[in-house]
Amino acid sequence: MNNEKLIVEERSRDIGKFLVGRLLPFRKKRQVGPFTFTDHMGPITLPKGDALNVDQHPHIGLSTLTYLLEGHIHHHDSTGADQVIGPGDVGFMTAGKGVTHTERSPQWEKETDNLTVHGYQIWVALPKEKEEMEPRFDYIPSGDLPSWSQDGLNIKVVAGEAFGKQSPLPVHSPLFMVDITAEDVSELKIKDQVKGEIAFVVVNGKVIDEGQEIGPGQMLISKSENECSITVEKGTRLLMFGGEPLPEERFLYWNFVSSSKERLEQAKEDWINHRFPKIPEDDTYIPLPGSN
Ligand code: MN
Repeated sequence: MNNEKLIVEERSRDIGKFLVGRLLPFRKKRQVGPFTFTDHMGPITLPKGDALNVDQHPHIGLSTLTYLLEGHIHHHDSTGADQVIGPGDVGFMTAGKGVTHTERSPQWEKETDNLTVHGYQIWVALPKEKEEMEPRFDYIPSGDLPSWSQDGLNIKVVAGEAFGKQSPLPVHSPLFMVDITAEDVSELKIKDQVKGEIAFVVVNGKVIDEGQEIGPGQMLISKSENECSITVEKGTRLLMFGGEPLPEERFLYWNFVSSSKERLEQAKEDWINHRFPKIPEDDTYIPLPGSN
């Protein structure tokens, strides 16, 4: 046994219409590699006319990684990006010095009865020297991500580098995110396959690590030097992510991440005073919490 492992349970958070399961940040572990925030959204089934509808809001100092298992999100942002993200695709919006975006169900889904939305919203902190970079949006469709089968496992590298394969998604520090499905009970050998800190999120099914079971809604946080392999039960789907930790502490406020508390204050002021870039032809505005 080693005492550096942590098992984190999803905690419900109300983000407006949606209840999400928050996995990071966690009081005993603020980050895993550069990953600072993980929300599990759904699975939720919505009646006709009800849909995902997140109005304009800002970010700084991070990249948002959108990875869906079911349903679609129509992403618009102030760089001009206009992209529908579907299951298995990856959307990666780098906020840098400041970006604004909306996330809505595409029109055809708004007209669908029993729309199911299920996915992960993940924040990756930028390294200090890139915190003020120009904002950008990158999108890679599922079919362009490296995927293969080995030892009863279907593996796809969503972001970064793992198992000697590189996702085409441009990222800003050494990291990885991998989607794994077990066709059969399998041993997932991790040693030397990824670099840095490691977390596993079980989407469905079960994994067993040193006799300990980790199930849906739970996250196992490990360390690469300790983790050799885990047993993955048949039919299990899990996400594995992490990477090299950033040397400085990161501070979070609302949708902002920074290595500087003063920079967070500036971002708050900028949003209140409408100094962020805007999405063309969108007048929606989510106020800073507590500011109205
Ligand atoms: Mn956002």
